[in-house]
Amino acid sequence: MLGHPDAPHARAARAVTPSALAPNYHPLPVVLATGEGSWVTDVHGRRYLDCLAGYSALNFGHRHPALVAAAKAQLGKITLTSRAFEHELLEPFARAVTELTGTEMLLPMNTGAEAVETAVKAARKWGYDVKGVPDEAATIVVTEGAFHGRTTTVVSMSEDPQMRDGFGPYTPGFRIVPYGDADAVAAAIDETTVAVLVEPVQGESGVIVPPADYLPRLRELCSATDVLLVLDEVQSGLGRTGTTLAQDLAGVRADLTTLGKALGGGILPVSAVVGRRDVLEVFSAGTHGSTFGGNSLACAVGLAVVDLLAPGDLQARAGALGVVLRERVEVLVARGLLAGARTVGLWAGLDVEPALGLSGYQTCQRLAARGILVKETHGTTIRLSPPLNIAEADLHLALDTLTDVLHEEAVEAGRAP
Ligand SMILES: *Cc1c(COP(=O)(O)O)cnc(C)c1O
Repeated sequence: MLGHPDAPHARAARAVTPSALAPNYHPLPVVLATGEGSWVTDVHGRRYLDCLAGYSALNFGHRHPALVAAAKAQLGKITLTSRAFEHELLEPFARAVTELTGTEMLLPMNTGAEAVETAVKAARKWGYDVKGVPDEAATIVVTEGAFHGRTTTVVSMSEDPQMRDGFGPYTPGFRIVPYGDADAVAAAIDETTVAVLVEPVQGESGVIVPPADYLPRLRELCSATDVLLVLDEVQSGLGRTGTTLAQDLAGVRADLTTLGKALGGGILPVSAVVGRRDVLEVFSAGTHGSTFGGNSLACAVGLAVVDLLAPGDLQARAGALGVVLRERVEVLVARGLLAGARTVGLWAGLDVEPALGLSGYQTCQRLAARGILVKETHGTTIRLSPPLNIAEADLHLALDTLTDVLHEEAVEAGRAP
């Protein structure tokens, strides 16, 4: 037994015994053992404030008591029936999520990528069956810099060589246009177009917030051209932006919305497509499915997640703390420590000033050494997405530490403001 692969003795042993783990990630050298709320503890007993929160899968923090209780209660009853049989939580789960999101119907899946795949399939089938697009001709407009997951069809929507190269042949039928540019979407739409699929805020790209009129214009455009507006809210949805969905900020309702990450409460993968009844009704029995989608345990946790969000105070809290977050990062921009900062709700993409000579990864390493966990998105950009119920003092602690790390680097680079 090597113990944990990143424990020091295991790392030493790896010199002789190569890792059994495929190298498709480059994690920070922190080996976590326990978590509670916004805090996690590593195998050496060191505590860290988790300001990544599982890329928003942990919007309610680690092991939220209500979510753990719901999971434990369900573990004592039944965990999986498969969709070959009914179970008592599936319809209530669908009803709860559609009520929370102001939608009509839900199709349950597991991962975010599967929810996106489901939306693509729904849009194509709607295009052929309802819109009358000729067979095999359907096109979907997507955007540069998007992140929708890792399956072969989903990476076919990407222009990012890192995500895409080496994994062809690619699924045809996607037109990639610049993000935030409604005119480019308009130009890409023709009679073969069945959907426009975008993130309301691009998460993995570094929290890119589009112009205020972007989503309203896409909504108008899609309605006018008989094209489905599909919003991928796997990361932006369920409270992160200070509203239940990011699209609420723009006063827009998509035809289909993908949900994931926080829907599983950080306990298990739960995703869904929610949206228009007449669109999701293009699926008939046997045309789409998932062994685990909508399993009893997933529904129990998902229902508890909806219970946490239904009163609206967590969203309000994310909005209020988001103001604190914005004010503090604006100071860092003014001091020349950040070259740019974008925030929406309790979510920030921060571009470290390049003259400091710190990459995003190095910034995260320095923060981790001081007990704050965040993750770079790419280049010099880091993303902050702490749990929505983080204590305000803890948010200040994270920003104080970030300020110290950047300030010390500026002093070293001879650029102390
Ligand atoms: C994370 C993410 C996905 C993919 O979710 P997985 O559960 O990792 O498959 C899809 N879309 C967006 C916007 C995401 O942030």
